[in-house]
Amino acid sequence: MYCPFCHSVDTKVIDSRLIREGNQTRRRRECPDCKERFTSYETAELSLPRVIKRDGRRAPFSEEKLRAGILRALEKRPVSVEQIETAIARVMRKAMTRGEREIPSAQMGEWVMEELHQLDQVAYVRFASVYRCFQDIDEFRREISKLTRHAKRKKSNNSYN
Ligand SMILES: [Zn+2]
Repeated sequence: MYCPFCHSVDTKVIDSRLIREGNQTRRRRECPDCKERFTSYETAELSLPRVIKRDGRRAPFSEEKLRAGILRALEKRPVSVEQIETAIARVMRKAMTRGEREIPSAQMGEWVMEELHQLDQVAYVRFASVYRCFQDIDEFRREISKLTRHAKRKKSNNSYN
């Protein structure tokens, strides 16, 4: 890091410690040229990206919209609030850790579908049918039969328990 006083290109770290429960690193630095001391702080950048809509417009990431979409798909389905919140948290973590400033809304949709696929098949189909805008009824049928096969496999696995 450059010295903010004399703009020397190198400064020496003389002390480094974690603060704010380990979320931030505080460093004491000294400039070898002018001998001034100063403090720098380092935090991980985990900010939510902006969302690129289908028409190319950008919108701020909205946790509320994400939750609303998931809740709509899960309406009257036997899924607990805790499971829903965990799914939302997972999608948000994916969005944050991707390290991109912008992500396509289609990517968000895929992440939501992955979560719904685990949580509830009916909700998954509801969401997918709206989100993917199935091209025709055949595509929709294929998706349903994939799920049916999946469910049957699950059932037969369970019967061995
Ligand atoms: Zn200096």
